[in-house]
Amino acid sequence: MSKVIVIGGGPAGMMSAIAAARNHEVILIEKNKELGKKLKITGGGRCNITNMRDIEDFLDKIIRNPKFLYSSLYTFTNLDLVEFFEKRDVEFKIEEDFKVYPEKDKSDIIIKALHDELDEVGVKVIYEKTLVDIIIEDEEIKGVILNDNDIIKADKVIIATGGHSYPKTGSDGRIHSILKKYGENITKIYPSLVPLVFSEDWIKNLQGISLKNIKVSAKYFKNKKISMDGDILFAHFGLTGPVILNLSSYINKHLQDGSIELNLDFVPNVSKDEVRKIIRKNNNKSIYNNLKEILPVNFTKQLLEYLNIDKKPNNLTKEEENKIVDSIKELKLNCKGTKSINEAIVTSGGISVKSINSSTMESRVIKNLHYAGEVIDIEGLTGGYNLQIAFSTGYLAGISV
Ligand SMILES: Cc1cc2nc3c(=O)[nH]c(=O)nc-3n(C[C@H](O)[C@H](O)[C@H](O)COP(=O)(O)OP(=O)(O)OC[C@H]3O[C@@H](n4cnc5c(N)ncnc54)[C@H](O)[C@@H]3O)c2cc1C
Repeated sequence: MSKVIVIGGGPAGMMSAIAAARNHEVILIEKNKELGKKLKITGGGRCNITNMRDIEDFLDKIIRNPKFLYSSLYTFTNLDLVEFFEKRDVEFKIEEDFKVYPEKDKSDIIIKALHDELDEVGVKVIYEKTLVDIIIEDEEIKGVILNDNDIIKADKVIIATGGHSYPKTGSDGRIHSILKKYGENITKIYPSLVPLVFSEDWIKNLQGISLKNIKVSAKYFKNKKISMDGDILFAHFGLTGPVILNLSSYINKHLQDGSIELNLDFVPNVSKDEVRKIIRKNNNKSIYNNLKEILPVNFTKQLLEYLNIDKKPNNLTKEEENKIVDSIKELKLNCKGTKSINEAIVTSGGISVKSINSSTMESRVIKNLHYAGEVIDIEGLTGGYNLQIAFSTGYLAGISV
């Protein structure tokens, strides 16, 4: 039996430890007092654990290095993940867009099932210890150094310390600079699935308004185009909501070269001509009352104020009508950046996939060192993909040590 150390008690680390414990003595080291601190807050505390799309379609939602994930996602699929938890009495439900949540809408249930399994398979968990360095001899890992200079020798190590985002949960990304010292290739880090910040001050007035099924498009980097549908939420700094978070993952790297214009269609299923008719539907009513059937009044009131239009439909000039229609069907907003990595759902960048054998998750640079989860340069869109990536890569690393 070899001795395996897993660093990081998130979904990737817990699953690695469980899978490795079939054949080895396993120690799991977590810097927090508890396991799964980030897992706990996923999906607003409800935990969108995976997505029921076929794995092929699933791979379309992985926007960084999907090919690298073939082995892990096929070795431990979304169905395997659900079955793993169902065997441990967790029930699930499928919501819109094939998103899977625990029936009871509580991430705690997932964390408890993982805890129970760690106990069951005999993983020793050490809390409140942080990995500060690794011991390498002849390009092979021999153990880890923890804070307080504790040294633990090991035959194999799995690093599953997460990305850089939401550092309060423990995943601060410091591991990347440690690994760099030993020749690991770390790609550039960007916040991803992150709210966007805009130049237009007036949109602050829309703060708190959420709109469903908006079409958002952008042109970025050498005329690449991206267009997505989904819900948005106006915030004091700009915009958030699922479609904005997903869009951020495409444009984040290019915002460093300058701002990017976003085009918003607030009623993609209503044509410009129909909007014109709705505006003038009842000449005695206010414009925002007429528009009520397609857009909320608090939104159109602010829009009309911004356009400086305060009149009944029958007094509206053609030019004013065009302005309203264009603002509803193709509002242009200047995105000047993203919120910081502290507010990003995931990290873009990490250990380069070129440095990792995708069939075993073993480093090609340091022997007997494996990686799992968000610490690697892999990322998916919202919808349960990132947790599945963590569990699948964790499982593959665990069975490969
Ligand atoms: C607010 C929020 C909501 C989210 N919602 C969803 C969702 O609903 N569905 C979805 O699929 N994804 C979601 N995600 C993304 C998902 O949570 C992550 O992709 C996933 O947790 C990554 O798992 P991981 O095990 O790789 O890393 P983490 O979950 O970050 O776990 C890493 C662990 O390692 C520990 N650690 C770090 N450094 C050290 C060290 N040096 N020594 C010891 N321990 C260390 C940390 O304390 C942490 O516990 C969400 C993320 C956030 C921030």
